[in-house]
Amino acid sequence: MHTHVPGSRVSVLNDAEVDPSGQYVLYWMTSHRRTTHNYALQRAADWSRHVGRGLLVLEALRCDYEWASERHHRFVLDGMVDNAAAMEGRPGITYYPYVEGSIGEGKGLLESLAESAAVVVTDDYPTFFVPRMLAAVSHRLETRLEAVDSNGLVPMRSTDRVYPTAYTFRRYLQKALPAQLELAPLEDPAGNLAGLEQPTVPGPILARWPSAEAALASGGPDLTSLPLDHSVPSTQLRGGERAASERLDGFLKQALGRYDDRNQPDEDVASGLSPYLHFGHISTHAILARLAAHEDWTPNFEGRPTNGKRTGWWGMSSPAEAFLDQFVTWRELGFNMAALRSDHREYESLPEWARNTLTEHASDPRPYLYSLEQLDSASTHDELWNAAQRQLRREGVIHNYLRMLWGKKILKWTATPREAARLMIELNNRYALDGRDPNSYSGIYWCLGRYDRPWGPERPVFGKIRYMTSANTARKLRVREYMERFAR
Ligand SMILES: Cc1cc2nc3c(=O)[nH]c(=O)nc-3n(C[C@H](O)[C@H](O)[C@H](O)COP(=O)(O)OP(=O)(O)OC[C@H]3O[C@@H](n4cnc5c(N)ncnc54)[C@H](O)[C@@H]3O)c2cc1C
Repeated sequence: MHTHVPGSRVSVLNDAEVDPSGQYVLYWMTSHRRTTHNYALQRAADWSRHVGRGLLVLEALRCDYEWASERHHRFVLDGMVDNAAAMEGRPGITYYPYVEGSIGEGKGLLESLAESAAVVVTDDYPTFFVPRMLAAVSHRLETRLEAVDSNGLVPMRSTDRVYPTAYTFRRYLQKALPAQLELAPLEDPAGNLAGLEQPTVPGPILARWPSAEAALASGGPDLTSLPLDHSVPSTQLRGGERAASERLDGFLKQALGRYDDRNQPDEDVASGLSPYLHFGHISTHAILARLAAHEDWTPNFEGRPTNGKRTGWWGMSSPAEAFLDQFVTWRELGFNMAALRSDHREYESLPEWARNTLTEHASDPRPYLYSLEQLDSASTHDELWNAAQRQLRREGVIHNYLRMLWGKKILKWTATPREAARLMIELNNRYALDGRDPNSYSGIYWCLGRYDRPWGPERPVFGKIRYMTSANTARKLRVREYMERFAR
């Protein structure tokens, strides 16, 4: 088959051959929930043209994923509304949205659709329940199953080295990126299916698993009737490809120039893209392309030093390079770890020096000990911390700098570092719209030493782990307005 999707992005998950007598090619959209710049959609469209069959896109939303809540569901549904509109009336492609109404109701849908498919293409994603789900499904399907990595600018599996620091990973990226950037996905991967017959979902399947199309046309099904955590309500932030694109535009036009000031809580200059990146509503390639246009930049890495320095390699403005270091180096560093270490969510995945120093200080007295409930309800003695927790609860996001402080204090206020990790994971993934992501584990375990080095002087509880205090934060940053905004 003729395809421009790089082989290093495609994992074939079972031994089945492509069945040219299949009625359609099935793209099972699970993590990269968008219609543009999507390698998996591109791969599926390539198969469609190759076998001469239309493309059926199944986007399903189950209700029993961990931390399932109105908040996460609403964001995904916003994306489904956009996807339905984007695929409406397009030749050769049928969009089949399915929203599970009760736990287990969706069971069997994928297998039933796969029976009539020539090949099934799905998204590769290295954390949450996705790897487990793909492993289980690959044994059950008798149709060829391919997982495609649309996660970042560099394929997750193009190296077998787990990088221990941003610096070493940056050096790797500086060598690997130029060739990868030439293999960007198409902006409109399914734009050329003209002449292929529109697939139809077999009647008995539709009867058992009705399409959510009609409900999406009026904004999505009623969330109150679904078995979700209703104590985590949706936020003002709208999900989906269109909102992601608007947010990126706003960031480039109004905030990027001040990105160097992003640590100030009263400067709202970070991109706010992490929820959209998490749900796959926007791709890294689209962000880079729009940033490049904004900066009037074209790739030219001739003679650029590949010494891992944070600035100067891209050849963009200083704030753009600072942004790229977060959004490319730090983000993809987390995907590197998540793809190559199945224990990336576990405490044991911390570097040895960090575990040793935390163990040495495990029995140090803690000045305050807070339970999950006290932390959750922002009931600590520390009003800056409480404000950050309230922002997380109300808005589903936390200001980046305060998020670091938020995690460091949880280490200080829990009986063991292992318990601190557990509580951070629980609160982050319950409330954060960008939670349950490789970055969640990078950020949480960064608070406990991952990707960092030992710091002196050695302190109680923290040992050699980098230390942060609310008092220092308040001295360095303008926090008054933030604390008023998120007052009790
Ligand atoms: C305790 C803790 C928990 C965290 N949990 C998450 C999480 O669940 N999901 C998540 O996406 N990020 C998490 N982070 C990293 C970081 O806080 C967010 O990525 C960032 O604040 C998102 O806001 P933004 O999109 O406006 O970032 P911007 O500053 O605009 O950065 C652009 C993008 O770069 C990436 N990025 C930025 N900072 C980091 C970082 N430190 N590590 C990895 N990638 C980064 C994100 O994809 C982000 O969307 C966590 C950090 C900490 C300290």
